[in-house]
Amino acid sequence: MTAILGAGMSGLSAGFYLLKQRHPSAVTIYEASNRIGGWIRSERFDDDGFIFEGGPRTMRTKGPAAINSLNLIDELGLADQVRPIHSNHVAARNRMVYAKGKLNMLPSDVFGLIKVIPPFTKPLFFAGIKDLFTGRSKPQLEDETIYEFTRRRFGKEIADYAIGAMICGICAGDAKQISVKFLLKHLFELEQKYGGVFIGLLKESMSARKKKTLVGEDSLTNLANRAKNEHWSIYSLNGGLQQLPDKVGSILSQKQVDIQINVNCKEILFDSKKVHLLMNGQEKTVDHLISAIPSHQLAKCVAKQHPNLSKGLDAIPFVDVAVINLRYNSPKLQKHEGFGFLVPPIENLPILGVIFDSCCFDMKQNTVLTVMMGGAWFHQWFGDNPSEEQLLDTALKHVNNILKIDQTPNHYKVNILRKCIPQYVFGHHKRVEKIKQYIRENNLPIALCGASYDGVGVNDVILSAKTCVETLFNKESG
Ligand SMILES: Cc1cc2nc3c(=O)[nH]c(=O)nc-3n(C[C@H](O)[C@H](O)[C@H](O)COP(=O)(O)OP(=O)(O)OC[C@H]3O[C@@H](n4cnc5c(N)ncnc54)[C@H](O)[C@@H]3O)c2cc1C
Repeated sequence: MTAILGAGMSGLSAGFYLLKQRHPSAVTIYEASNRIGGWIRSERFDDDGFIFEGGPRTMRTKGPAAINSLNLIDELGLADQVRPIHSNHVAARNRMVYAKGKLNMLPSDVFGLIKVIPPFTKPLFFAGIKDLFTGRSKPQLEDETIYEFTRRRFGKEIADYAIGAMICGICAGDAKQISVKFLLKHLFELEQKYGGVFIGLLKESMSARKKKTLVGEDSLTNLANRAKNEHWSIYSLNGGLQQLPDKVGSILSQKQVDIQINVNCKEILFDSKKVHLLMNGQEKTVDHLISAIPSHQLAKCVAKQHPNLSKGLDAIPFVDVAVINLRYNSPKLQKHEGFGFLVPPIENLPILGVIFDSCCFDMKQNTVLTVMMGGAWFHQWFGDNPSEEQLLDTALKHVNNILKIDQTPNHYKVNILRKCIPQYVFGHHKRVEKIKQYIRENNLPIALCGASYDGVGVNDVILSAKTCVETLFNKESG
């Protein structure tokens, strides 16, 4: 028997890929909460024509992990439910940062590189020139923070206003702590190899001319092909992203995969061949275990028998985020059109950014906004236990200051998401490798997937589940 811990997107995907591989043993998914989907949580208000997303809201279309998700969505029969945002849509083109007291539109084409575009004080091509005239780091580095790497190669303004804001938007984190490998692994490796990013890109493009096929390109399903040919930028699903885990869950249940909710795994013990799970006061024994729960939760479960593994897992930090959904029943209340805006940490404000949901997707006659707050600075701004009123007041104050919307929302939801996004801080990749090495060396029948290890987005966790299942199979057949 195989058990999967966690029915977030990674655990459900692991179940799906086990079924697809025709895994011979029975599969059960154990989920601590009373629902499936993990951080994916969409609330639909069909009568009023809008949706509140409490967690993720869109998925990307570029790269192998994105193609894998599109393939999955096609296989699930959800292709006709996809709501794409094309690359020429205002929400794909217009991305803003709030800095120096105003909203600034980031350049979206090559002409934007030769003009001075606030908040930057020089045209962006100067950043490229800096890279060309900056030598390789000495000594060679194994890792670096993403802030330091971009400051060194492209200048302080790029680090402060572009990368600082982007890291807030992707993982609610502090670029001064996040590893360069989280987002710019390839550029970092090029610099370390060739002494500069642009030089490296040039040399690489010359040597890559012969082998031009994209990874995974030959395995594109219809939907992935449509995304490519129609230039989709990002997408969601009708009824919200929650449709995705719901659909996987219903397919798994039809195929006799048992999904048990309200089952909290407290302890995991391994003997030479089996895994013993202590859950809700009972013991379950299985042959294989896939952990799709956050690393800090797994750390608690293995602490008694494997304290060193537990320490390694616990060393991956997580941040708290407040997600405030606002709905006003008048359309287009904000003057600016676009995906939304991010606030770089140098501005020292408690909000990370605001998403213009009703610019991205049709929300009928409503203006729907989502304010993200806290992240790496949650405790600094809000202490340990802020009230919902305090968080709502802060969100409304900044919506008023920045977007000049002073109305009271007709509808709102305050979500306080504790330890919701792992932080791939300096040294993360080495830390994860050590965790995996410990599992290999001790021959533990457990495989890991989910946002804690190899990517924090929905696409990443689906791919991590697929890789995890493939590794399990190779081990069994090897
Ligand atoms: C506010 C926010 C916005 C985001 N926006 C985006 C976005 O726009 N696009 C994007 O691609 N990604 C986004 N993400 C990231 C995305 O949500 C995650 O990558 C993804 O949901 C993680 O899925 P998971 O299955 O790895 O983990 P989780 O969703 O954390 O699921 C883990 C599950 O395990 C359960 N569990 C925990 N402990 C136990 C236990 N001991 N026993 C049994 N069950 C247990 C939990 O209850 C949970 O259901 C966002 C995340 C947040 C928080």
